[in-house]
Amino acid sequence: MDKAIFPGSFDPFTIGHMDVLHSALQLFDSIIIAVGCNSMKKGLFDTNTRVSIIEDAIAAAGLSNVSVCTYSNLTIDFCREIGVNCIVRGLRTTTDFEFENVIAQANKKIAPEISTIFIPASGEYSFISSTVVRDIILHKGDVSDFLPKGVEIGKYTKNIY
Ligand code: ADP
Repeated sequence: MDKAIFPGSFDPFTIGHMDVLHSALQLFDSIIIAVGCNSMKKGLFDTNTRVSIIEDAIAAAGLSNVSVCTYSNLTIDFCREIGVNCIVRGLRTTTDFEFENVIAQANKKIAPEISTIFIPASGEYSFISSTVVRDIILHKGDVSDFLPKGVEIGKYTKNIY
């Protein structure tokens, strides 16, 4: 298949996200990672930093068929804007499924031409979430095992501490 969008908050992008990305690249020729900007949800890292972290990970993995962008409208509207009709989301648990399925069904109702593809987490990464990574960072712990190769988080945490 042609291309898909992998949307998310990515605050920050983790090794779990990277795992989903690699699986998605087995299905699609190219993937657009879209960082959603939600003014109601203040994260740990600002949008530009989230994008830079993802760019570091993509460069280190040598992935030329992956791009990163930001968006602030509805995911389906953004898909229509850029001409993409597939959304990739990762699933770790049944709770993820319950949550994601509601959104996927709503999106299908509003935009029938856009499909959502769920990719299950690999067992070894299924416990990793951006929330856990943020918590460890806030407590000055070592998150290197949870981040993709090429991401030196110290570069980005200077204005947090
Ligand atoms: P959002 O705020 O949109 O849920 P996230 O950045 O938390 O954004 O996650 C983006 C997508 O990646 C979601 O579909 C989420 O379920 C998935 N995801 C997050 N962590 C993992 C992981 N460890 N393994 C597989 N999928 C994951």
